[in-house]
Amino acid sequence: MHGLFTDAETGRVTYALSLSDSCLTVQRITSPASSSRDTERLDLRDCLGSRAHRGEDHSAYLCAYFYPYRRRWMGWGPVRQREERRFRLALDANDDNDDDDDDVRDSNLREAERWARAFQNNSARCTGHTHGVLFSEIRHSCGMMVLVNPQSGRGQAMALYNGHVQRMLTEADIPHTLVITERQNHARDIVRSADLTQWSAVVILSGDGLLFEVVNGLMDREDWEKAIQTPVGILPGGSGNALAASVHHYTRASPVWGEDLLLSCGFLLCKGLTSKLDLISIQLSSGLHLFSFLALAWGFIADVDIESEQFRQIGAYRFLLSTLVRIASLRIYQGKLAYLPVEGESESKAASSTTPGSSLQTQQTLDNQTPNNCTECSNAEQTSTDSVDQLVDHLLVPLDQPVPQEWTVVEEQDFVLVIAMFQSHLGEDLLVAPDARADDGLIHLFYVTAGISRPTLLRLFRAMQSGTHLDFGCPHLVYRRARALRLEPLSRPGVITVDGEQVEYGPIQAQVHRGVARLIAG
Ligand code: ADP
Ligand code: MG
Repeated sequence: MHGLFTDAETGRVTYALSLSDSCLTVQRITSPASSSRDTERLDLRDCLGSRAHRGEDHSAYLCAYFYPYRRRWMGWGPVRQREERRFRLALDANDDNDDDDDDVRDSNLREAERWARAFQNNSARCTGHTHGVLFSEIRHSCGMMVLVNPQSGRGQAMALYNGHVQRMLTEADIPHTLVITERQNHARDIVRSADLTQWSAVVILSGDGLLFEVVNGLMDREDWEKAIQTPVGILPGGSGNALAASVHHYTRASPVWGEDLLLSCGFLLCKGLTSKLDLISIQLSSGLHLFSFLALAWGFIADVDIESEQFRQIGAYRFLLSTLVRIASLRIYQGKLAYLPVEGESESKAASSTTPGSSLQTQQTLDNQTPNNCTECSNAEQTSTDSVDQLVDHLLVPLDQPVPQEWTVVEEQDFVLVIAMFQSHLGEDLLVAPDARADDGLIHLFYVTAGISRPTLLRLFRAMQSGTHLDFGCPHLVYRRARALRLEPLSRPGVITVDGEQVEYGPIQAQVHRGVARLIAG
């Protein structure tokens, strides 16, 4: 598609536009007779949408909204930046004849609309970022529900919505309804009773805590098998924006923070590609059952997460400040940890190290007990996506029974921290599990044993910012890939968090269910 436009402001500079399946080429024609031309190519993968509208005279305007990666002056790396391109279309009008003038005005608008439609179609096809992951496009025939927690982070979520999100959704022509949460568990209650057929996706603008409510609200429903297929999206508006940072990391782009991360996630949201998302089923000793998408933490990291609440006004820096405070008053946490390693990665089975009578003894020692249909089930079957209607924790046995024989029981019982990661990031700048993916079917289990010095622990946390902490070869830091785990804390009192939210303290176990939810990601 080719056409001649002028600049939108003065109408004096002529541009020759040429739209292909993958890019828009803009040639600036400085003088019609001259051969000197400036040419710019704009990648349609960076285009969110396009509009046509009438001008004040007989002309029409074509606007296209691009968010290309650009290096910022004095910035770290490239970040997405909004670029609005406006062109004026003014086919000659006959000044003497009003009827002709109307015709020209209409034909200008029709031509601009034809270009806008072509932009929409071509840029929708250019989704990019697929990286071998299977995505499916969500349909926007019904709108998105956008849940905003006005209290998240430093209380800036509504300003982020008004400053960026609303505009991006409008530019991408995605209908949406804004829902402002009023209290804790409000989002959970809303999705628990919502008519999900009315929504193409449920999106949150907050920290990870609000998505935790949404996921558990969907899983609370009678029709949870269907409900959990509703695509969920995340826009970073809180102080803990780990999933948003992970989603950005999965696109293989350079790390970004704050509003740059919001623009990146907003862009991916508007492109509307979904990937599968693992859910981790969590069982607590009270019988409570939760679903997690991010992380389970005990010890140092869980304490930092909860203690940092008091520094909420300083945003994401709250974690840094609390980390320094905790390192100064370093604690050892006693407990028992066991996990089911992924196939072929079994470590020495430390059954002998377990205390007699402990539920972390392996099943080997108790002849007649058969775990929930688990004896024959090899964890190899976990390599494909789990079927939602069979969401049974078949790798877990009741918490008061010993873990199955094929589990590894960790010998050490003195820890500084245990963190089970289900995504790559634990915070915007904490790349704890660099190889993790949203649907890898894995629990990335890290633990730090007692005896680590304060300076080494500090170095590990600093290295986590770039995901290089495992390169140190620190003997106190252990990394295992697992399908299930059990933790029995012995020290009291203490804190366990799931997706950054505090849960009851006591024995806890978890199993991954691969790809049972849907995440809007790139
Ligand atoms: P942050 O990363 O800043 O902690 P979250 O999204 O994790 O942001 O939200 C923190 C908590 O705020 C969640 O537990 C959520 O239930 C709760 N919450 C949601 N809406 C409100 C509200 N309007 N007022 C107070 N708390 C809320
Ligand atoms: Mg994962």
